[in-house]
Amino acid sequence: MEKFYPDYYKKFKCIANLCPDSCCQGWDVVVDEKSEKYYDSVQGSFGEKIRKVTVTDEDGDRIFTLENDRCPFWNKDELCDIYINLGEEHLCDTCKKFPRITMDYGSFTEYTLSLACPKAAELILNNDFIIPEKNYRLDNDYYNAEDMEQLLKERKQAEKILLTEGLSFKEKLKNLIEFFSEGLSTTDKNYKFIFDIHERLEFINPEYSEIIKNSYSNSLSEGFDDIYTRMAVYYIYRYFLNAIEDMNITNVIKKIFCAYIITASIASFENNPDIIRIIQNYSKEVEHSYDNNATLEFFFENDERFNLENLISFLE
Ligand code: SF4
Repeated sequence: MEKFYPDYYKKFKCIANLCPDSCCQGWDVVVDEKSEKYYDSVQGSFGEKIRKVTVTDEDGDRIFTLENDRCPFWNKDELCDIYINLGEEHLCDTCKKFPRITMDYGSFTEYTLSLACPKAAELILNNDFIIPEKNYRLDNDYYNAEDMEQLLKERKQAEKILLTEGLSFKEKLKNLIEFFSEGLSTTDKNYKFIFDIHERLEFINPEYSEIIKNSYSNSLSEGFDDIYTRMAVYYIYRYFLNAIEDMNITNVIKKIFCAYIITASIASFENNPDIIRIIQNYSKEVEHSYDNNATLEFFFENDERFNLENLISFLE
């Protein structure tokens, strides 16, 4: 099977206790079967602790229960007790893999890192990345090969629009939306509804809803064009081919639009905004959350205020 790794993928190294927003905070850790089997064999008080904090959640997954919103094995020095006591090889799959993401399309696989990790966000947002222009072997056993060929071409086209030189990110985003527009009429001249929908999502940081609410403004932070371009290329690379299920590529454009509008508004309210942290935070709270994504996609598909023509009007 053909595989593609961006350059930044292999440069990633977890910064552990130096991490400003650790993945050991706020997230349930899903424990795979093989790791749990091993944990069941661990003797002594450490083995007892693992078994005590491993429970079944409402989705039927086996997870470590959080203690004060922290992984129970994240110690006071902000290091991992499983790593220390049992060795790196006995971390469960969730911890071993994060922030590495595998996008398996059957006949080929692409890899990326998650923007939700601060170190990965630095690598993704500070380095140019060109989406592979490979002639992947397409295979009707896994998907409709003609549809996949079309998506690969359109993904390249989307990237080309985003990499046009001499334009601001706002202009490039407008061109991108225009290119994929659905030809529907505009309905709303105010993008506050996007903030209202985001405010009602479920966040790890209880203050994030308030941050979104307070940052609503009709002015978007100027600048950061290169950073936003790389963010948009990341979204295109990570999500565009998911449309193979229904050929609906507009959801990825709407995701980029939301990420831009919300984070550029947050940045406009801060003095010396740390744009990488702002984008990483949004990713951790929204993009990386299965439930929040499902909620947003429901609105993208059912709320006509999200039609692409309407979104273009907010960039004029
Ligand atoms: S968020 Fe990234 S850098 Fe931070 S602890 Fe987790 S893997 Fe390491």
